[in-house]
Amino acid sequence: MTADAERKMQFLYALRSKGVTDTAVLQAMEKIDRAPFIRGYFTERAYEDMPLPIACGQTISQPSVVGLMTQALQVSGRDKVLEVGTGSGYQAAILSQLARRVYTVDRHMRLVREARRVFDALDLTNITAFTADGSHGLPDQAPFDRILVTAAAEDPPGPLLAQLKIGGIMVVPVGQSDAVQSLIRVTRHASGYEYDELRPVRFVPLVEGLGKDS
Ligand code: SAH
Repeated sequence: MTADAERKMQFLYALRSKGVTDTAVLQAMEKIDRAPFIRGYFTERAYEDMPLPIACGQTISQPSVVGLMTQALQVSGRDKVLEVGTGSGYQAAILSQLARRVYTVDRHMRLVREARRVFDALDLTNITAFTADGSHGLPDQAPFDRILVTAAAEDPPGPLLAQLKIGGIMVVPVGQSDAVQSLIRVTRHASGYEYDELRPVRFVPLVEGLGKDS
């Protein structure tokens, strides 16, 4: 086996052993190479199951967490998905393989610009990336079938709950501090919202307003 094939096999093995079992999610993560979403020295570590630093003091999430969040979102090929927290663009790229259309927003213009470049290079034409404060959602594109928030909020933001379709699902890390956060799945029913607590996680915070580079 080539070193590349072996690395890929280990990457998928790590995902499975951490509980990523959904075949479509595993296929998407096999297809989308994580390396182009990482710059400089850290690209060497692209296939390790760990978060890594990206520009603007942010992080690209750990692959197994990307897999578990994507799995919890239960995306289908008909879905219009909003991701809040583009970061490197890796999570949006995974979603693009499963959804009809992905909108992704980040408060840092630089991250959005760099992510767009990778989406173009990989020909991921069903992703649209915006610089915006994602805690307000994207009113012009709403409502969404699925919403994934990849930064931790104190509570699921009200505008995002409002922009979820009935029958829709939102996955969001929620916590009061950097140390203790829970991944929550919110399902919107005609009669109201149902909340499931999925697992402990650790994300950078959801911050209001645009980044200084914007
Ligand atoms: N999903 C990313 C990782 C996200 S890191 C990936 O796959 O690489 C969290 C991101 O959320 C950071 O890039 C940060 O800038 C962004 N963020 C934080 N608060 C935000 C807000 N209010 N609106 C939009 N983006 C926000």
